[in-house]
Amino acid sequence: MSTPKIVLTELTRVQLAESLAELGIDSRAIKAVWNGVYVRGLTDFSQMDTLARKTQAKLAEHFTLARPTISRELISTDGTRKWLLEWTDGQRVESVFIPETDRGALCISSQIGCTLSCSFCHTGTMRLARNLTAAEIVAQVLNARDRLQEWGRKRTECLCTNLVLMGMGEPLFNYDHVARALRIIMDGDGIGISRRRIMLSTAGVVPMIERVGRELGVNLAISLHAVRDDLRNELVPLNKKYPISELLRACREYPAASNARRITFEYVMLKDLNDSDADARELVRLLQGIHAKVNLIPWNPWPGAAYQTSTPERIQAFARNIGEGGFSSAVRATRGEDIMAACGQLKSEAENLPPSLLQLQR
Ligand code: SAH
Repeated sequence: MSTPKIVLTELTRVQLAESLAELGIDSRAIKAVWNGVYVRGLTDFSQMDTLARKTQAKLAEHFTLARPTISRELISTDGTRKWLLEWTDGQRVESVFIPETDRGALCISSQIGCTLSCSFCHTGTMRLARNLTAAEIVAQVLNARDRLQEWGRKRTECLCTNLVLMGMGEPLFNYDHVARALRIIMDGDGIGISRRRIMLSTAGVVPMIERVGRELGVNLAISLHAVRDDLRNELVPLNKKYPISELLRACREYPAASNARRITFEYVMLKDLNDSDADARELVRLLQGIHAKVNLIPWNPWPGAAYQTSTPERIQAFARNIGEGGFSSAVRATRGEDIMAACGQLKSEAENLPPSLLQLQR
């Protein structure tokens, strides 16, 4: 039986070098391969024309560059795109591209499903199917470059400039694969999205936070959502394990934060639950001593959920309180709602919803 092929995009550049050496492939091939895969978007070694035929054939014998199937692409009226990617085992995951005029953020998933069971999140109603591999995380970026036709373009001409790990799953429950994928994505000779343009969002896996700052140095976002442990236990059950005070201590010590690179505190606005002026003032008190900014997220509805979104006036008043307390805040614009691509709406079964239900989400 022939040995299964190595998934090339599973390897960092250092690992690829080792792998080529083991297989007796000329180490000079690395540059051409890395450039071919991550700058030109090639999926076939025979297109890597600076390589000798013999080397191309040997690479093809040992490695695969296969991409996931795109089982669905939805484009919102606001330009947001949602892709449903399918892996060889039939599991599917979503990623979302949110364009701005001269840049854009790709929101990628780290797991298929999620174990956190946050009560207000649609993905939380899915069970965890499995972790994504590094290659599957990288593939979400390659797919965006494919669909946006960005291969070979200058970086300044690409719309997919930023990356947020805010899709399905908890990235810090899949740290090894996420870290490897980010190393590949950040490599300056390849995709080259810098750590300053990457944001990793976590519900608060406290013991992992320091490592993220030290090893990856990306921007951190924390899904806080409540200022009291009793309410946060309900909304984000992980809080029972890592309560607010411990979470904030880890943020205070986050190695990659500074005045210029603040930690984003995400706060979902839930009517009459966490949106009072007193809550806002308590949030300001909690954030003292942290390089912090606040991102208020109007709660996005999904079928069967028992919450309501705060009114725009309440959100403005909450934001005002935060500003008066000395922190900047932004209200996250809801994007891609008509295709169920907004925060907390990702769930791969969503593709099975009848169009009438999708319409309800407007
Ligand atoms: N597990 C990570 C990554 C998910 S990020 C984390 O918890 O941070 C997705 C963000 O959207 C989180 O802040 C999440 O709490 C928020 N979110 C989930 N459901 C939402 C909804 N229905 N409306 C608005 N935001 C939601």
